[in-house]
Amino acid sequence: MKELSDYNKNVRIDLHIHSTASDGTLSPLEILNLAQSLNLGAISITDHDTIDGAKEALTIGIPSSIKFLTGVEISAYPPPSFSCPGSLHILGYAIKIDDPVLNQTLAILQEARKNRNPRIIELLTRMGIELTLSEIRNDAGECQIGRPHIAKLMVKKGFVQSINEAFDKYLAKGEPAYVDKFRVDCDRAIEVILDAGGIPVLAHPFLLKMKNDKVLEALIISLKEMGLKGIEVYYSEHTQDLITRYAEIANRHELLMTGGTDFHGSTKPGVQMGSGKGNLCIPYGLYEKLIASL
Ligand code: AMP
Ligand code: ZN
Ligand code: FE
Ligand code: FE
Repeated sequence: MKELSDYNKNVRIDLHIHSTASDGTLSPLEILNLAQSLNLGAISITDHDTIDGAKEALTIGIPSSIKFLTGVEISAYPPPSFSCPGSLHILGYAIKIDDPVLNQTLAILQEARKNRNPRIIELLTRMGIELTLSEIRNDAGECQIGRPHIAKLMVKKGFVQSINEAFDKYLAKGEPAYVDKFRVDCDRAIEVILDAGGIPVLAHPFLLKMKNDKVLEALIISLKEMGLKGIEVYYSEHTQDLITRYAEIANRHELLMTGGTDFHGSTKPGVQMGSGKGNLCIPYGLYEKLIASL
C-alpha cells in the first residue's frame, strides 16, 4: 500500500481562491466541484473582506476528498513607517466564521466598498465613460461589486478592449478614476484574525511592490511583531526565483509558508485553480504545517 506521506507529496493545494461572494466568477459550489475534479487536496476560499463564500461552502458541505480551510483576504494599510506602492493584503486562515468582532470589521469594510463604487462611476462619467451601478449590478448578480466588475462592463460597452486596459488607463492606483479604498490598519487586521482563532498570513509579497527584498523583509519583521504567522510564498505571479527568496525569508523568521493561485474565474482569465499560470504546484505539506500550528 502507498504510504500516505508519498501520496501527499503529489497532491496539490490552493489556499487563495475568490468566489462570487467577492469578485470571483464561480460560486462556492462551483469552486468545490472544480477543486474536486482537479483532485486538489486542500483549498481555502479567501474572498476580499468577506467570509460569505467560505460560509456558503460549509453550508453546502465539503466533499470528503478535500480539506477545507475557512479564509478571508483583508485589505490593510501598511505600518506608518513603510510605504507600499502596491497592495498589502492579509490572509486569515481557519478563522471562526461566527466571531462577532471579525464579522463587524468585515461589515464596515463592505460598507466602505459600497460607498466607493459610485465615486469611481462619477469619475468615469466625467471622462465620457457612461456606466451605471444598476448596469454593473445586472451583470454581476448578488456579489460584492469591485473594480473588476466595473472593468468588465467597460469592456462590454466597448470603452476598452480588455480588463487590463481598464485598470491600466483608468482604475489602477494613480489613474484618473482611482478612488482609494477604506482599509483597516495592518495591526488591526492581524489582531482581528488572531482573535477569531485564525492564522494571519501576508498575501502575495510580490504585489506589495516594495523597493527591494531588504525593505520587504523589514516590513515582514514588523508584521511578525504584530502577530503575523506566515507568508504566501507560492503565488501565480511569483517566479521560481521569487519563491526561493520568499521561502528563505520565511525560514529566517520562523514563519509558515502558504500558497495559492488567487483564482478569480473569468475575472483573471490567465489564472487557473490549482496551477496558476500553468506550472504552479503548491505542495500539500504546507497545508499540513499550517493546521499543525493551530
Ligand atoms: P477592488 O476590490 O475594487 O480594490 O479590486 C481589486 C481586484 O482588482 C483584485 O481582484 C485584483 O486582482 C484586481 N486588479 C487590481 N489591479 C488590476 C490590474 N491592473 N489588472 C487587472 N485586475 C486588477
Ligand atoms: Zn479579487
Ligand atoms: Fe490580494
Ligand atoms: Fe486575492
